[in-house]
Order: sequence, then C-alpha cells, then structure tokens
Amino acid sequence: MKKLFKFQAKLFKKFGLFILLIISSNVFAQPPAQTRILLKNLNLIDGRGGTIQAGTDILIQGQRISAIGRNLKSAGARVIDLQGKTVMPAMISAHVHVGVIKGNAQSGTFFTRENVLAQLKKYLDYGVITVQTLGTDRPVLYENGFRDSLINGLLPGARLFSGGFGFNIPDPSVSKESFMGNLYRPVSADEVPGMMKELNEINPSMVKIWVDGSPLTKMKPAIYQKIIQEAHRYQRRVAAHVYYLSDARNLISSGIDVFGHSIRDSLVDEGLIAQMKARTIPYIPTLALDKFAHVYMSKPNWLEDPFFKAALEPGVYEMISSSTYQNEQKASAAAVRSAGAFRVALQNVKKLHDAGVLVALGTDSGAFPIRAQGFAEHQELELLVEAGLSPQDVIRIATLNAARVLRIDQDYGSIEKGKVADLLILNANPLENIQNSRKIFAVYKAGQMVSTGPFVNE
Ligand SMILES: [Zn+2]
Repeated sequence: MKKLFKFQAKLFKKFGLFILLIISSNVFAQPPAQTRILLKNLNLIDGRGGTIQAGTDILIQGQRISAIGRNLKSAGARVIDLQGKTVMPAMISAHVHVGVIKGNAQSGTFFTRENVLAQLKKYLDYGVITVQTLGTDRPVLYENGFRDSLINGLLPGARLFSGGFGFNIPDPSVSKESFMGNLYRPVSADEVPGMMKELNEINPSMVKIWVDGSPLTKMKPAIYQKIIQEAHRYQRRVAAHVYYLSDARNLISSGIDVFGHSIRDSLVDEGLIAQMKARTIPYIPTLALDKFAHVYMSKPNWLEDPFFKAALEPGVYEMISSSTYQNEQKASAAAVRSAGAFRVALQNVKKLHDAGVLVALGTDSGAFPIRAQGFAEHQELELLVEAGLSPQDVIRIATLNAARVLRIDQDYGSIEKGKVADLLILNANPLENIQNSRKIFAVYKAGQMVSTGPFVNE
C-alpha cells in the first residue's frame, strides 16, 4: 500500500487530481458485487392500497427490488422461503421526535448522538425505517455529517429526516435545556428572515411552527405569515402544529403546506375540506398522541403486552401502571380534554380521508416518555381503523402516503420494482386484523435483514 501511495503521490504532482481519481476509481476500487436475495411465496401487500397478492416472490438485487412475480428464478441468488408470511413496506412516520426523552424524563440535554441512534434503532426494530422529526432537534445532529449519514441509511437504525429547529412564541419560562429550548421564538415578523436564513443552512426537510404554542397565547398571524412566506422563498414547506379549526382556516389562507396534527376542537366542514384538496395539503393526524394523553385514567388492554413494554424507556411502565398516576389522570383537566379531542380527531380523519385529502402516518412519538416510539406507530394503525378506515388504506397511509409527504416516494414507500427494499415481514396478515402488524418476523432495510423485532431473544 505504501508503494501505491507513493506512486499516486508522484502522479498527483505530475498530472494533478484528475489522473489520481481515474486511477483510484477504475483500477483499484472495484465496485462490490451486488448480492441477490430471492424471497419466495409471500403474501404481498405492496402499500398502494390494493388487495393481498398471495404466492408472490420478490427478488432483491443490492439495495433494490429488481423483480416481483410468481415462480421467479435467479441463478446464484440466496433463496429464502417465506411461505405463510406477509410482507408490507416498512413504515414511515412523518411526525416524531428523537433525542429528547430518556428514562422517565424529557430534556434537550438528552440530545446526544448516542441517544438519537438508540431511539432510531428502536423505530427500526418496530418496522419503522424512516422517520421525520418536527422541530425539536439540536445542532449536534448536523455536525460531522450525522444527519446526512442518517438520511442516506449509512448508520444503523431508521433513516432520519429532520425539520431542524421549529418556530414558537416567545416564552421566558422555557430554559435552553428544556426539550423545546432550542426553538426560534420571534417577537416580531422582522426577526423571521434572519432566523429562516439560518435555519435554511441546515437543510430542514420541513419547517415546523407551533401556532397554539401555549394554551393562553397564540402565535400572531403576522408572524406565521412571515414564516411561511420566508420558508417558501427557500422552497421549504411549513408543517403546523394545530388544534383549532379556526387556526387551520387562517393557516390555509396564509399558505400552510402540511398539518402536523389533527384538528380536534370541532368537526371539519366542506369549505375546509375543499381548500385542503385544492391546495393538496397533507394531514398527519397523530391520533396516538391524543390516545396516550387520556388512556391512563384506567388500565388500557395493552399495558401488559410485551410488544408495548419493549418500547418503553426505563421507569415509564412503573409510572403509568401506578394508581397515583391513574388518579392524577382522572383529575387532570388536560386528560379529560384530550379524551374529547380524540373523539373529534377520529371523526375528522375519516371525513378528510373519505374526501380524498392525503393522510399520512405520524404519531408525535418520542416527544414525551408516554408516547412510546415504535409502539405508537402500530397503535396509530389501530386507531385509524377505529376511525373507520380500511386496513388497506391504513397501510397505504403508513407507507406510500407518508413517503409522498416526505417526497421520497420515487425510492420508498411501496413494494415495487426499482424501489429500495425496505420491508416489514409479518407472521400474520394485517388486512385481516390490523394488530397483526405487530407480529414481526423480520425487518429489511435496503435489502438487508436488520432486525427480527423489538424482543432481544426472539
Ligand atoms: Zn411533535
């Protein structure tokens, strides 16, 4: 090797970088041979909303799907018989948070490379291979190419698309260390252009705004209008934290691009639906958030489910199963309000979906310890079915629709020839019972088997 370097160094002196690159790429660095894997006899749910296709084979070449069909043959491919298993695209969650919870606590100081990677591994184990964080990330994510490596799937765990640092209202009570302590908080619209210029430097996947950032004070329309206007100057889309129908209306007239939560105070009407369709504004309902915010008034049926418990940070199970916590929840006005909001949210997602609005999976998991990362995504599927959507549509919401919202549907979100082989292989069919999405047999990320689910000893 030493000789080679000397030789290259000499050439470099003589002929410059150009020759060196030709030599390196053409002679010495052979591309690795692409492995081929043939998955046989699967029940295929391709993510596009259709029915199951029994007895299907999938040929994976390198990272991508190169053929789908019956009785495929490929000389030299490693053949894996998956008779009786069902395959669906790996899930994509378009609204999560990472790095802000640890154990039973929440803090911006938990945002370390190690904690982010551990949480992305958890998503992966639950079959959620791509996530988008909305607004609570920290500068360490953009250092040394960390986020870019995550987007490109070069590190273990789920791929991460980051919304960077969101915009909220000024709040002197929030410390820098708080999980929302690194947000932009413009006092006037004049401050927005400088902030957006800075945010644009880190290349956020979307810009997050909290319109009703506190129950008492809302962001002024002049400020969010400026945020939307400035974001659009950089071709960035803006995703809003919403709750109220009236805010949703004003945001639509101001040019909002994505709703990051459900409208939960009243039922959406025809006018709003028409506007959302005309402007193709996607809707990320995050029903799991509202469920978790009130369900622990009593003991939910999943409390002892190992699939749930494996998603919890240490100490969370002890908290939520205690009678102290239950009693606090029963007495909490916020929890009671959430129960009502949840019922409205269920009706709204059904109305919007039926009308043809693009609905995408998102849960707000990871923002609080009770919003269990990975489990929340499977819970969301169940809640969407509870809202009245068909399992086929729900799976499309969790895969292809979410990919469309992230604008990565050329490569991800469905099982189709040419797309990246991100697969969730299940022991049972989730179209028969949506809870079968939890019966994980294997998770494939870019053509490689990377997990057999969240249990260590499975
Ligand atoms: Zn959120």
